[in-house]
Amino acid sequence: MRCPFCRHADSRVVDSREVDEGQSIRRRRSCSGCGRRFTTSEAMVLAVVKRAGVTEQFSRDKVVRGVRRACQGRPVDDDALQQLAQRVEETIRSAGVAEIPSHEVGLAILGPLRELDGVAYLRFASVYRSFSSIEDFEKEIADLREAIAGSASPAGDDDSGAGD
Ligand SMILES: [Zn+2]
Repeated sequence: MRCPFCRHADSRVVDSREVDEGQSIRRRRSCSGCGRRFTTSEAMVLAVVKRAGVTEQFSRDKVVRGVRRACQGRPVDDDALQQLAQRVEETIRSAGVAEIPSHEVGLAILGPLRELDGVAYLRFASVYRSFSSIEDFEKEIADLREAIAGSASPAGDDDSGAGD
């Protein structure tokens, strides 16, 4: 990053802050040549590598669109989809890498989607994991049941009078 005043090649970062909800980072730099200060802005690009080796920028909207399809007819509203997409992005960004294979985006979707809606999860998983037989569904449903049972409170039976 050359100094815009004297074209010197070296500069020192004196301050940096995330902007646009962490999508880009703004740095205040001090030129080591002339000492003047300037600001640079760098997008924190997160690239998704598709199967054919093509990369595209990660997009929450794309996650929402993909999941929305699986949620057709399910009681899942747009807020929930937005939250899910945000969680997916946080998971991916927390890995701290600039590039992520697209199947890992799918993986990051599965967890939160399973919590959100079991049926939507099965639909999404069936496409994502290319279920090819009824057994694939059966196994996934068994896992899902187990997960639901596991997340229930161990003292759940004491609340059996609740409801109505
Ligand atoms: Zn300079």
